Amino acid sequence: MEEELYLSDPAWIEFQRQKVFKTLSEFVSAMPPATKGVHTLPQSVAVQVEGFHPMGSLDERVACLMVKYLPIKVSANWNQITSGLAPSVIEKAKGCTVRLIRSNPKQGRWTFEVRSLGETYTVYLKASVPIGSTASKMAKLDLKLGCSCGFWKWQGPDYHASVEGYLDRKPRSNKKEPTVKDPNGHNKICKHVYACSQFFMKYDLPRKET
Ligand SMILES: [Zn+2]
Repeated sequence: MEEELYLSDPAWIEFQRQKVFKTLSEFVSAMPPATKGVHTLPQSVAVQVEGFHPMGSLDERVACLMVKYLPIKVSANWNQITSGLAPSVIEKAKGCTVRLIRSNPKQGRWTFEVRSLGETYTVYLKASVPIGSTASKMAKLDLKLGCSCGFWKWQGPDYHASVEGYLDRKPRSNKKEPTVKDPNGHNKICKHVYACSQFFMKYDLPRKET
């Protein structure tokens, strides 16, 4: 028996938005191979990663309902993420030392260790190809980001990343807008993530064999 296919969060959302395909199976079979490679997984793999849902009939209906209540934004690229970023974040990033500690370009995953003011933090990056795109350059990819620091958690980045679709892993804050710590909404990311971007924006995703 063929394994059940699982579909990514962004692909679920896209399926809901589009008006062309009536069923998920039609939608998936119309995907270009590279897109399909990124947004679908066999069950045995999908159950081990976050953000993938089964396509079977009952689960499909439940997931479609879920998607309706998710925030609309599910992806963002670097330009969108850093639009309006506080200049102080960029300035302070200069004092950070970055070390790549894990790298899995095939999965679009990188993890960094960042040292700053005697503390060490972990920065997570997940890059994926937007639906309908064949991009491999980081600037064109959908990015998910996260940092283990307190600034990320409480001073804006975790909130912005949650509502604007670029949070990697689960929210660490209470998802409330930090109106006191970030009144102008400029703290889109922390200095540690910005420091890492000086490296990761030069990375590419390996192109999938089609
Ligand atoms: Zn940080």
